[in-house]
Amino acid sequence: MTTVQTHTGTPTQADAPTGTDTHTDTDRDAELKALAEQAGRDLEDASALEILQWAVKTFGKQFCVTSSMEDAVVAHLASRANPGVDVVFLDTGYHFPETIGTRDAVEAVMDVNVITLTPRQSVAEQDAEYGPKLHDRDPDLCCALRKVAPLEQGLTKYRAWATGLRRDESPTRADTPVVGWDEKRRKVKISPIARWTQDDVDAYVSEHGVLTNPLLMDGYPSVGCAPCTRRVLEGEDARAGRWSGSAKTECGLHG
Ligand code: SF4
Repeated sequence: MTTVQTHTGTPTQADAPTGTDTHTDTDRDAELKALAEQAGRDLEDASALEILQWAVKTFGKQFCVTSSMEDAVVAHLASRANPGVDVVFLDTGYHFPETIGTRDAVEAVMDVNVITLTPRQSVAEQDAEYGPKLHDRDPDLCCALRKVAPLEQGLTKYRAWATGLRRDESPTRADTPVVGWDEKRRKVKISPIARWTQDDVDAYVSEHGVLTNPLLMDGYPSVGCAPCTRRVLEGEDARAGRWSGSAKTECGLHG
């Protein structure tokens, strides 16, 4: 397993240009953005595997999948498109043991390269600087320190990343494009299962024997950090157990 502590060194710019190149970063971003938006239109009706095959063909090693280890569906699809594909996992230090176990199982049995990103500070170091249980007092800051910052640094060497976002998960995700432009990180963001429903996910898991987090069968249809995730009640939205009792609905990775 590769573990990347996001405070060590400067990430490699695998896509650094060589030789004379008059393109500016702004030019490249504009081209990538146009490419992403065109692909979003062209691939709207394509299958998840076709979308990922396009991503692999277009970006090669500068493409990765991110996974929360809720399930390994997108990682499985991506490994079919590109065996050995990089799968990036954020270890916040607050995960359920089942989530870490799912990460380890994915690494052991799937043809993927799991890369674990860790925050700059351990939980103990964060507690010492900000006080204990920052997640209860300022979850936006906690997510910024333990999720958003490590991901942004970890994604530096890629031009495109895939997520498992689905339109049916919540109103905030209803307009998720299958391929779009991530303005914040200046990357192409690919959501190959954006059009899928939970039934589609369940069918794919069943058909391919894909690894899933055991908590999904234990009342947690959406799995995040342990302090910020509870079981959902009958009839509740799948993400109702995330940051329950607060207005927060997203960690900032997808905003
Ligand atoms: Fe912190 Fe909770 Fe965000 Fe995890 S989900 S990083 S514990 S606020």
